[in-house]
Amino acid sequence: MGLVDLHIHTSASDGQLRPADVVATAIDRGLKVIAITDHDTIGGISEALESAGKSGGIIVIPGIEISTDTSAGEIHVLGYYINYHDDELLRVLKTLKDSRERRAVRMVAKLADMGLPISLERVKQLSAGGSIGRPHIAQVMLENRQISNFREAFDKYIGHDGPAYVEREKITPVEAVQLLVRSGALPVLAHPANIENLDNILNELKSVGLVGIETYYGFYNNETIEYLTNISQQYGLIPTGGSDYHGINTGDIGAEIGSINVPLESVEQLAALSGKRIADIVL
Ligand SMILES: [Zn+2]
Ligand SMILES: [Zn+2]
Repeated sequence: MGLVDLHIHTSASDGQLRPADVVATAIDRGLKVIAITDHDTIGGISEALESAGKSGGIIVIPGIEISTDTSAGEIHVLGYYINYHDDELLRVLKTLKDSRERRAVRMVAKLADMGLPISLERVKQLSAGGSIGRPHIAQVMLENRQISNFREAFDKYIGHDGPAYVEREKITPVEAVQLLVRSGALPVLAHPANIENLDNILNELKSVGLVGIETYYGFYNNETIEYLTNISQQYGLIPTGGSDYHGINTGDIGAEIGSINVPLESVEQLAALSGKRIADIVL
């Protein structure tokens, strides 16, 4: 168990716990620094910061995880210490959110065509006004007993090659890094172990302002962590890390909160770059 977890989702995107409950859970587990990194939304940040402020003893870094698209597949870019009031950032996020909604409508229609009707209203309700994701669709299918477990929804229907899968509008990793930099955030490449042409991507992203690479992640084994640590050194990037926690009952898409040993040094380096001080963390 660690003291730091820099990759956490809440119900503002496809996590299952409300931001306040995520913070409470993090405090319970003895975490000292967490980052809220919801998919394409800053919707969970205010509540998380507020509840951290009330509880004390934990630092919440405002963050985000932006989904981007390349010819070789999807790449996620994390942003730390984001200015979640930045106009341009909010505008781009709104476009991505609208696209997610249109996509949910189309996936629900495809499922209906396949004889698996689900309520779009219920899907929206589960996303609680945040980013609608495939896990919400899976959840409704589970409630309707159209599947027997969460994974089945992805394996049979809404996974990348599934018959009810629908692509959505995305931005490139370079555009995401540039957007983050312009809004004053620190861009970090998320879960990079399986990215094809990692060297090309890193060279490209570093040149537009990438500062870190997620090294201590989810289920990465020691060998992978060592490989990525070497890469972080080679490229002069901060090795960050986190669980990719999505809440209870979602073991398939994220590890347990705080289960990854992320060095406090990672946060110190990020904080130093952002001009923030974390010297007042009580450890
Ligand atoms: Zn991700
Ligand atoms: Zn994530």
